[in-house]
Amino acid sequence: MQHFPIFVDTAGRRIVLAGGGAAALAKLRLLLKTEADLHVFAEEPAPEILAWANDGLVTLHRAVPGACDLLGAALAYAAYEDDASDARLGNLARAAGVPLNVVDNLEASDFITPAIVDRDPVTVAIGTEGAAPVLARAIKRDLEERLPQGLGLLARIGKTFRAHAEALPHGRPRRDFWSAFYFRSGPRAAVVGEDAIQSALEMELAAHLAAEARPGHVHFVGAGPGDPDLLTLKARRALDEADVVIHDRLVPAPILELARREATVIAVGKEGFGPSTPQAEIDALLVEHAATGAQVVRLKSGDATVFGRLDEELDAVDAAGIAYSIVPGITAASAAAAQIGQSLTARGRNSDMRLLTGHDVKGFAEQDWATLARPGTVAAIYMGKRAARFLQGRLLMHGAASDTPVTIVENASRPESRVVASRLATLSEDLAAAELTGPAVLMFGLAPRDARASLHRTATLLKEHA
Ligand code: SAH
Repeated sequence: MQHFPIFVDTAGRRIVLAGGGAAALAKLRLLLKTEADLHVFAEEPAPEILAWANDGLVTLHRAVPGACDLLGAALAYAAYEDDASDARLGNLARAAGVPLNVVDNLEASDFITPAIVDRDPVTVAIGTEGAAPVLARAIKRDLEERLPQGLGLLARIGKTFRAHAEALPHGRPRRDFWSAFYFRSGPRAAVVGEDAIQSALEMELAAHLAAEARPGHVHFVGAGPGDPDLLTLKARRALDEADVVIHDRLVPAPILELARREATVIAVGKEGFGPSTPQAEIDALLVEHAATGAQVVRLKSGDATVFGRLDEELDAVDAAGIAYSIVPGITAASAAAAQIGQSLTARGRNSDMRLLTGHDVKGFAEQDWATLARPGTVAAIYMGKRAARFLQGRLLMHGAASDTPVTIVENASRPESRVVASRLATLSEDLAAAELTGPAVLMFGLAPRDARASLHRTATLLKEHA
């Protein structure tokens, strides 16, 4: 370790930065997070620096720093991006005994500015001795994703609670309390606000004092259409913390692998028209696990609030007095639209769009066909493969144009995805011919952008031939 990491108290101390361009701005953005007395020396300062000086955040000197400017400074930054000027500041800093950083020049520097993950007062500094800045950035990105934004707030409020926590015996019980706060109740409360964090601390302490089992919780999490990269950060975090994961069969393995190694993973629901777990059994499973104090993640494909029988599960959890939260996900319609390069709404075409189900508990689902048949209608039809002939018949009967585009997107967002561009007139034949086996959403009223382009080309060609 050539460079030893330390945290320097800069509150109220002078930091000298020389330079007014991009390098200076980058460093100043970091330094503005401190409580230091920032002095910037720049003859031609960037507009941002002028603005900061106007707001009193930095003291701007439109001059070259002299020896006395460095006396007693805590740190000095040479950010001229010019070797000769940087070296001049370096000499002054050395003479004054002030640690120096020359931006992008490791050899000429006394110290390195690390990559920083800021959850003040929790600060993570990452250094690679200048060997691999790319690696430092990758680690930073990883941590940014992993550490909740509210962590700093939790730590600040947590700090004020330390004396109360001493009511718990030293060692394990106290550690368990803090870990429950920082990793479970705290992050949940942080979403609501500071008061909620305070009450979370009090409730967590009361629970631990009474040595009660920790309360169970059910997160209803939308897993998105299948691509793990389309999970929300919240969904990732819930999976990280889950003791039990109860998932629909549509949720693919790469997403389930994100659950904790120790988590119990249970598959429920149904696959296409195959065997299914009765809803009552799923409801019971949720309650049963949460009642033991488990953190349960109920993982549903897409968005949990779309054709997911969410209410029945919410009712069951509510009736058992179990706390829950809902984490939204990307629904199949959004993923399919992205894939075919189309907008779900468009000015002058459709100012509303529908999410329909092809069949419901009673069989093929009836809809307001007359409205759907109007030109320009866009509807994402879920669970529509089997109902295609029925849909086609009803829509044509109500006057929908037979050349209305219908695009079938199977396994949207997944590597094995397929897109079938069809028209209302040939929908059921095209679907049968495609022999789709995965989940598919029918995008009524939308053609893939590419196919439209090729249709247009064909039309032009035909015209040219005529
Ligand atoms: N809650 C889910 C929908 C569940 S209903 C969501 O918001 O997406 C199940 C239906 O969703 C499937 O029959 C299919 O129509 C659609 N679906 C789910 N995932 C899909 C995917 N990756 N590609 C296409 N359709 C999908």
